[in-house]
Amino acid sequence: MADLYIDGKWREAVAGGHREVRCPADGTVVRAVSEGTRDDTEAAIDAARRAFDEGPWPRTPERERGALLLRTAHIIERDAKEFARAESLDTGKRLVESEYDIADIVACFRYYGGIAGTSAGRVIDTGRDDAISRVVYEPAGVCGLITPWNYPLLQASWKVAPALLVGNTVILKPSELTPSTSVLLMRALEEAGLPAGAANLVLGAGPEVGAPLAEHPGVDMVSFTGGFGTGRRLMATAAATVKKVALELGGKNPNVVFADADVEAAVDFALTAVFLHSGQVCSAGTRLIVEDSLHDTFVDEVVRRAGLIRLGGPFDPEAETGPLISAQHRAKVEEYVAAGLAEGAVLRCGGRRPDDQALADGFYFLPTVLDECRQDMRVVHEESFGPVLTVERFSDEHDAVRIANDTDYGLAGAVWTEDAGKAQRVARRLRHGTVWINDYHPYVPQAEWGGFGHSGTGRELGPTGLEEYREPKHIWQNIQPRPQHWFRG
Ligand code: NAD
Repeated sequence: MADLYIDGKWREAVAGGHREVRCPADGTVVRAVSEGTRDDTEAAIDAARRAFDEGPWPRTPERERGALLLRTAHIIERDAKEFARAESLDTGKRLVESEYDIADIVACFRYYGGIAGTSAGRVIDTGRDDAISRVVYEPAGVCGLITPWNYPLLQASWKVAPALLVGNTVILKPSELTPSTSVLLMRALEEAGLPAGAANLVLGAGPEVGAPLAEHPGVDMVSFTGGFGTGRRLMATAAATVKKVALELGGKNPNVVFADADVEAAVDFALTAVFLHSGQVCSAGTRLIVEDSLHDTFVDEVVRRAGLIRLGGPFDPEAETGPLISAQHRAKVEEYVAAGLAEGAVLRCGGRRPDDQALADGFYFLPTVLDECRQDMRVVHEESFGPVLTVERFSDEHDAVRIANDTDYGLAGAVWTEDAGKAQRVARRLRHGTVWINDYHPYVPQAEWGGFGHSGTGRELGPTGLEEYREPKHIWQNIQPRPQHWFRG
């Protein structure tokens, strides 16, 4: 298995290790991949450092770098079926969801490829004829990019595309549970003509293969998407070498429904908000916050429809959502549900594994609705990252905003109302990086993504997603230098 990509070559792990990747839908082995160690990451850092300091990539005109991203988009689109299948086998998500993801990944590469050369810098009016001042943007340098298992290649594309566009060299470290599409991405970049060392891939466990990216003085920036605890540790580690750090962490996202909402649509979206990909979505609308007068009818309908959701594997055409990523993750979700019940939540549906024996080998968990929840419950304020919806009530607009903002996180949220003024007022008051009005989940590569508070630092996507990977530099040129005689002698 030569599937580490270092310095433009496909290599096996130095220590010869490998790992079996299993499909969470039935536990079958999908493939074996190299399992790297610290030595492999150090080799990748050395390669990326050389490629940055001496290689052609940072000195290639940005328009050419953009053209390479566009070629990469084309290759991914051409091979979309292979990418989608690999993503579904690793994550267990439905094939149709992976197909949407691949289309979004292509769009991300096209967006960054398309804006190449459009923000080259600024000229400053110095007020002097003898001086020129301009601000230019330099690549941050060698970037370590660490990604999670829920949207493996989507999260990677949000980092790889902008980082490469502005001339950085990168080391990608995907989740050890879902490495396959990152391997395919490196092949696509290679085919598109990326010079050796500009993009490198290491595979393996986070503390072994990921941690050196935060520790090593040869890395200038680390961009991480994953859990809050890992992100916080990584930031502390990176502080020792004062690296730039970008973090995209979790969320406990409010979905606020006023009594004057379009109820049929709001119920429908409340389900997609939380049960899409079995809740393994950082922006999942896990906290349903409903106006008192609507609560009973609304929750009854959510519960009725949640009970009808069909679980199944990636290639089951009848399945509406899939399994959790691992047995260990399912155990964590079960623990959160048990904690919620112990703290007084009322179980309205789910709360257990499905009875269907055909699903017994997968890590399935039924869509679960916990009613009569309070903010102080662990299941409400900590991320279970599973198909678990908690329901709270509110009495008025002020109360709705208070509950929605009562979280350490601040990634995303939604507000449902037919009153456009109220919708805008509430949207502005939510301390969350994305707010949907009468919708849930859409995003576009042109608009920033990221969170307030514990949801992270920095933004991905949009123009700000590019800024993360650049260092502004001010260049002042005196074109007619004359002595100043500040000092008399
Ligand atoms: P995780 O933190 O366990 O792992 C994320 C990545 O970090 C993996 O590649 C892992 O191998 C690596 N890692 C683990 N320990 C490390 C260490 N000590 N040093 C360096 N790297 C290390 O997260 P996960 O379970 O893979 O993903 C789920 C989490 O990701 C959830 O909390 C979810 O909310 C979050 N997430 C956030 C966003 C967002 O955009 N904000 C998007 C997707 C997922």
